[in-house]
Order: sequence, then C-alpha cells, then structure tokens
Amino acid sequence: MTTIIDGNKTAAATKTQVAERVERLHNERGVTPGLAVVLVGDDPASHSYVAMKERDCAEVGITSFDHRLPADTSQEELNALIDELNADEAVHGILVQMPLPDHLDEEAVIERIEPTKDVDGFHPQNMGGLVRGQDTMRACTPLGVMRLLEDYDIALEGKRAVVLGRSTIVGKPQALLLLEKNATVTTAHSRTKDLAGLCREADILVVAIGQPKMVDETYVKEGAVIIDVGINRTDEGLVGDVDYDMVESLASAITPVPGGVGPMTRAMLMSNTVDACAKSVDYSFD
Ligand code: NDP
Repeated sequence: MTTIIDGNKTAAATKTQVAERVERLHNERGVTPGLAVVLVGDDPASHSYVAMKERDCAEVGITSFDHRLPADTSQEELNALIDELNADEAVHGILVQMPLPDHLDEEAVIERIEPTKDVDGFHPQNMGGLVRGQDTMRACTPLGVMRLLEDYDIALEGKRAVVLGRSTIVGKPQALLLLEKNATVTTAHSRTKDLAGLCREADILVVAIGQPKMVDETYVKEGAVIIDVGINRTDEGLVGDVDYDMVESLASAITPVPGGVGPMTRAMLMSNTVDACAKSVDYSFD
C-alpha cells in the first residue's frame, strides 16, 4: 500500500501550531509577530502568491504589512524600504517576492535584509549557518519537506537520499537538511550521468527540477519515498516533476501535486515568522 503524503493536512497542523504560538507570544510577551511582504511590479503570479501569504498571516494571527511598489522602483528606493523594515520593531519577518524586475539586483536585496528577519532563509548568513549546523533560518520549501518526512515518520538515518536539482532555494539546502538528519545524500543535476540509475538507488528521492513529469518508473526503486517539489503549469493543469501515475504503485510513500510540498512552503513561512518573533524577544516555546 502506498502512503499518499497529504501536504494540506500537515500544513493545517503546522498552521494550528503557529496560531497557538502567536497567542503564547501575545499573552506572555505582549508581542504579535509581523511579516512585511514586498511586491515590486505587476506580475500576476507574484500577486497571487502574495495574496495567499497575506491570507495565511490572517489565518494564524500574524500581522502582515503590505508593500506594493511600481515596476519602475529603483534599487535605492527598494533598499530604503528594506532598511526601514529592518529597523521596524513590529516587523519580525521580511519577504521580498521574487522574481524582481530585471533592473533590480536580487542578490543585493537578499543580502540587505537583516538575517534575523530573513524568513525565506536565503541570506548568505542563514545559508552559511545551515552549512555550519547552526540554528539559523532555513529555506521554507526544503524545511517543509523535512516537516512532511517527520510527520509521516519516515526514517532518514543511514538511508540513501538523492536530491534531484541543485538550486539555491531548494536542492542545495534540501541536501544539507537531509544530511543533518544522517541520511547519506547525493545531489544530482542536469550533468549527472545515468540519472535514472542513480535515482533508482534512492530510499528517499526528492525531485526539484521544473521538468513536468520527467521522473517516471525507470527512476524509482520499489519501496522508495518520493517527494515531488515540482510545480509546472501545463495544458493538463498543474503537474509535478514526477509522473505520479507511473510511479505511485512502486513507491512506499509519495507526495501529490498539487497538495504535497506546495502548502508546506507557505506553512513554513508562517512558522519561520513566529520563530523570528520569538527569538527577537528571547522566548523559547519548549
Ligand atoms: P531551478 O530552475 O532553479 O533549478 C532546477 C534544478 O534542476 C537545477 O539544478 C538543474 O540542473 C536541475 N535540472 C533541470 N533540468 C534537469 C534535467 N533534465 N535533468 C536533471 N536535472 C535537471 O528550479 P527550482 O529549484 O527553483 O525549482 C524546481 C521546481 O520546484 C520547479 O518546478 C519549481 O516551480 C518548484 N518549486 C516549488 C516550490 C514549492 O513550494 N512546492 C518552491 C520552489 C520551487 P543544473 O543545475 O545542472 O542546471
């Protein structure tokens, strides 16, 4: 029997926990977590992502501060806003929706955000902290994958994990998080030789490549756990990087698309924001 990993369910439980924590911070420290969401330009997909994030904030009791800037905003103007948010005590998390218009320097923006408020976990200091095993902010999507694996009691220690994809926002931090849990991790990418053969060695296969349904039954060992991070808009609707129908019966557990990793990314953003707020007032939930 294949377990279908229900991201909506785990995300709902995560958000319930976040809401309880928001209340504890309010009752015990008189502080309400705040997330500033910065959107530059009028990309429709970005607008809908930002709207969803603001809805999530409302649902868990996090105050959201909405900053919508025109597409011709200059780097200096954006920098000034980030400086202001860095200094604002009501703001515990800052999210700048990517991609930014071409004339803006995304790297410079990420580096300008105060690392303790970098709830996306992309700042070099937070990425470096992950490499060094420090308790710094972790990127939401790979963190969401780890929460799913934990929620479904999937053992990682000593297991062979293959992460397919090496992006800075998913693949690389994902590999490090699995390593932290004592999996034996291989990162694969577009130059990897015999990709299917390598993936077939995996007990846990995390796929984040942005290639609709590329991973089929030839990539999957019987009994493997398959985590599909991919979100691809195609003529047949939203599909993952994994050919779900072809691999489902082989896998011991698998995430669907939609309804797998996607909802977890949003839930972990809320979780990172509440953690950032707690740290700012030196509060521990333990
Ligand atoms: P990137 O485009 O930044 O990275 C893709 C990675 O996949 C690269 O490392 C690339 O290799 C590798 N790759 C691409 N094509 C192949 C191939 N044919 N064979 C082997 N490796 C390949 O993507 P992201 O990491 O940002 O996103 C990956 C997917 O995850 C996308 O579908 C995206 O929409 C989705 N996503 C989902 C999120 C969620 O919340 N569920 C959040 C973020 C992303 P190389 O480095 O060699 O070029």
